[in-house]
Amino acid sequence: MSLKVYISGTLYDKDDAKISVYDHGFLYGDGVFEGMRSYGGRVFRLEPHLDRLWESAKAICLEIPMSRQQMTEAINQTLQANGIADGYIRLIVTRGAGTLGLDPNRTSDPQVVIITDHIALYPDELYEKGLKIVTASTIRNHSAALSPRIKSLNYLNNILAKIEGLQAGCIEALMLNTKGEVAECTGDNIFIVRDGVLYTPPIEAGILEGITRDAVIELARQSGREVREIPLTRHDIYIADECFLTGTAAEVVPVVEVDSRPIADGTPGPITRELVEKFRRLTRGD
Ligand code: PMP
Repeated sequence: MSLKVYISGTLYDKDDAKISVYDHGFLYGDGVFEGMRSYGGRVFRLEPHLDRLWESAKAICLEIPMSRQQMTEAINQTLQANGIADGYIRLIVTRGAGTLGLDPNRTSDPQVVIITDHIALYPDELYEKGLKIVTASTIRNHSAALSPRIKSLNYLNNILAKIEGLQAGCIEALMLNTKGEVAECTGDNIFIVRDGVLYTPPIEAGILEGITRDAVIELARQSGREVREIPLTRHDIYIADECFLTGTAAEVVPVVEVDSRPIADGTPGPITRELVEKFRRLTRGD
């Protein structure tokens, strides 16, 4: 059975799920999206994901053509149609088809697309062994140019950094902001541990406000750990006791080497391992 894809009220077979080439989402990356996970048939942190989607849309003056309730129903309908209990959900709202100019006022019918599928971002062994990353020379978007808080369809900034990572044999890459501080990775937020305290760059460092990041901060604080959101430099990362990344697709994944410098002894640290497990328990509900 072919996967069904939701487009603006209708479920289509994957091969027939198409939108106009005049859609400004396609022409200009003019649109917003979310990546979510469903565990045991329940969407993890659905409300914060919808908040972020609506905030991203507001920031680009895009009116989402349905209510949050209708969006929730559409997501559940698509998951059910595909019999997916544990999977990944890609929710996209495009500006809609228009003329060939930039003017968003000359578009009509923003399209809502929901893809539900299975995802395995990183091989299992990386959760045991940890991953190696490098710093990309591509700087994260300046917040005043295009806020990294907007989860827009234009991901070229991150893709350019991802290419640099891949060219260096790494599947993730670290991005700095225009001040040279650590921002985030191309599709994940970054944390370090030093003397038992967790550190992660603040929102003002120019990052996406990751929902997994929030969940991990909560989990760490619940177990009595201190978490500080303060600006970090690459030096802080190099001398950290532990390092890990967070993201919807990646969940919590250890980092054991940054720019050819092993993090501590080059193996995933105990607090990272604990958080990998705690996050699994939180999402799997056991
Ligand atoms: N930063 C960027 C640039 C991302 O694309 C993502 C993935 N959405 C993240 C961080 C992690 O965010 P979340 O935990 O909400 O998936």
